[in-house]
Amino acid sequence: MYGLMQDRPLGLPHVFHRAEQLFGHRSIVTATHTGEVTVSYAEWARRVRRLATVLDTLGLAPDARVASFAWNTQRHLELYFAVPCTGRVLHTLNIRLFADQVRYIVRHARDEAIFVDRSLLPALWPIVAEMPEVRHVVVIDDGADCEMPGDPRVHDYETLLAAAEPFAGRFAVADENAAAAMCYTSGTTGNPKGVVYSHRSTVLHSLILLTADAVALCERDTLLPVVPMFHVNAWGLPYAAVFAGANLVFPGPSMTPAALLEQIERHRVTVTAGVPTIWMGAVPLLDSHDLSSLRMVVCGGSAVPRSLSETWREKIGLPITQAWGMTETSPIASIATPRSQHERLAADALADVRAAQGQPVPLMDLRIVDPESGEELPWDGVAFGELQASGPWVAREYFHAEDGGGSFTDDGWLRTGDVATIDPDGYVRLVDRTKDLVKSGGEWISSVELENEIMAHPAVAEAAVIAKPDPKWSERPVACVVVEQGATVTAEEIIDHLRPRVAKWWLPDEVLFVDEIPKTSTGKFSKKTLRERLYPVGAE
Ligand code: ADP
Repeated sequence: MYGLMQDRPLGLPHVFHRAEQLFGHRSIVTATHTGEVTVSYAEWARRVRRLATVLDTLGLAPDARVASFAWNTQRHLELYFAVPCTGRVLHTLNIRLFADQVRYIVRHARDEAIFVDRSLLPALWPIVAEMPEVRHVVVIDDGADCEMPGDPRVHDYETLLAAAEPFAGRFAVADENAAAAMCYTSGTTGNPKGVVYSHRSTVLHSLILLTADAVALCERDTLLPVVPMFHVNAWGLPYAAVFAGANLVFPGPSMTPAALLEQIERHRVTVTAGVPTIWMGAVPLLDSHDLSSLRMVVCGGSAVPRSLSETWREKIGLPITQAWGMTETSPIASIATPRSQHERLAADALADVRAAQGQPVPLMDLRIVDPESGEELPWDGVAFGELQASGPWVAREYFHAEDGGGSFTDDGWLRTGDVATIDPDGYVRLVDRTKDLVKSGGEWISSVELENEIMAHPAVAEAAVIAKPDPKWSERPVACVVVEQGATVTAEEIIDHLRPRVAKWWLPDEVLFVDEIPKTSTGKFSKKTLRERLYPVGAE
């Protein structure tokens, strides 16, 4: 017997029309090269309707891949809706990738058109100039003074919009499982892999962000997504914000900590989100801004050092909320919101809860598995194994890949490549990424835990721990440390600081002082680059 409820597809058209009808009064602010632009949701919705017509006029296939190469802006949000609401697939390109990777990804996705911010054109044009399969390059003028190539494929966004009649009807997507957007993993191992989000997965993931124990986004909020819109759809937050009718503030190209904090202060931002390096960079400026409007600072993408969250709590009264996920999980899979049993905890113990990657959000199933036996491990907070995920916004395969490269289990779960414990309350704690663990004498050392302890030293700004090949132990940990500006610290002092905190055999063999930890295209510590620099394969 079936339930007798309406079988209505979960699609982004509903999210769009709801915002258009209910939230026309809410605003979207974007920082530009020359100042700031503010539009109402009503105006934005009219522009989305015009853009929908433009996509048809350009002759793009009904399910064409349409790429963006853009900052976080209102116009990028126009693409976020016009592309999937007309049945096409928005492919957000990472603006920090190397030319070869962009070329590979554009070809692999078979992008028909690319929408690019004018300030980013010098990086993109040399790549697409030689790619005839890209039929249109639409330049979004963000006030930058970059030359427009004289090529018939190049168009101006505003000219196209001005000439287009707004689409007059209601958008509709018949199949909720149709693709809405795609994003490539950064390809730290092998070629980047395409993850394809559906309307259904995007709507469900957005809904989860509105729930109280997740981000609780609502109409009264003002959201500043710092995490790039090309990085897993800015963690799905722009879609969730439009669903809720929250005000949006976009940083555009102004990504310095000072510019971000200024936007938070000026627009009374309540929720913001970014990777740890962003919030680390903001620490020296926290005292000089009124950030009292903030109610949540979401942080993920890599482990959030306990000391970072505590510094924010001490300085502005608000700790950082850690979340965990990956491109393949849309990305939010778990979030470290405290529960009733934590209410009476002392500040120190509460900081430990926040240092976890958190509890799975509703509809998300997580498990830890012994990689050798394949056995599921107990949730006792001690046993650690490979973290695997299953849920309606988790990838089941990659776009046009012969195989998943071992990323999926026989029973259809995603193998995350992360190693974790889960405690009896369901809180996940990431021990490390499989490839970053240090294997010393047959035992594992967590680089993340060592980094956390080192970064708790007041003279340390950043620390990354990597494995150094060792003839006796197989691998030994080496710490690369960036000293806080104006501070001094010696290698011995760092080791002395670690001594009471970790097992003796975990103590790094060396502490190297560096000017900067190299970052990946999404702003995470790039331990791969560090390893290649310090211990190139084949070197003595
Ligand atoms: P990549 O890092 O390869 O660019 P993703 O952006 O998809 O790809 O990152 C996913 C990975 O980031 C996760 O598998 C995990 O290793 C790491 N990660 C994400 N959030 C956290 C977190 N809160 N703590 C620790 N690691 C995290």
